[in-house]
Amino acid sequence: MVKYNYSLVGGFEVKKTLIIAGPCAVESKEQIIRIAQKLKNIGIFYLRGGAFKPRTNPDSFQGLGDIGIEYLLEAKKITGMRIVTELMTIEQVKKYADKIDIIQVGSRNMYNYELLKELGKYNKPILLKRGLSATYEEWINAARYINNDNIILCERGIRSFDNSTRNVLDIQAIPYIKKNTNYPIIVDPSHAAGNNYMIKPMSLAAVMAGCDGLIIEVHDNPSEALCDKDQAITIEEITEIVNEVNKIDKYLK
Ligand code: PEP
Ligand code: MN
Repeated sequence: MVKYNYSLVGGFEVKKTLIIAGPCAVESKEQIIRIAQKLKNIGIFYLRGGAFKPRTNPDSFQGLGDIGIEYLLEAKKITGMRIVTELMTIEQVKKYADKIDIIQVGSRNMYNYELLKELGKYNKPILLKRGLSATYEEWINAARYINNDNIILCERGIRSFDNSTRNVLDIQAIPYIKKNTNYPIIVDPSHAAGNNYMIKPMSLAAVMAGCDGLIIEVHDNPSEALCDKDQAITIEEITEIVNEVNKIDKYLK
């Protein structure tokens, strides 16, 4: 199976499933550097972590903001990992686009066309998350608003009638996007499931279905995570997933 060539987005690995991992939010300098080092040690080169957090509840932790970006850059300097983080406003894009390796557009901003157009001005890889209940067509149109050569679509679960889980991972998005577009597609099982026990099976299912990568929330102390702790998996659990994905990559080659 042909995987997207991530050297196009400055990737370390070519034709392998790309794995992005890290906490939901940057909580402190020590936390992000510590987790980054642990992830680097198991062969992960892309670090996620939100500085600007689009929280559904205004009373929830809103992220560290500018200082969070500084801590991410510090983690990058120390580990050499590439940084994946969400920017929510045009001002943030103007300020940080040059410094971040992959800019995430969150689900809640998929329809923010002014933001998408601004992002298109920079030749930066953009991780475009699918809106909470966006159709494939709306999602692809959002990518067309960005209109650069470096767009990665991200399926992160869609709303359903059943609230037993946070969202439902739409595995069908993988073959659909592969058949109908040239965009690579990565899968975020964390925001789809909303719980930790589904992350491994959903990750492996997505890789078998042909996704180009995974973005997974990991914390070295999930019960203490300030954000999305129920879906955070441990370093041991992400290690297992990395090992299994490596096996599938070899098998699918
Ligand atoms: C996130 O990745 O932390 C996030 C907020 O995701 P989403 O936009 O998919 O809800
Ligand atoms: Mn999260």
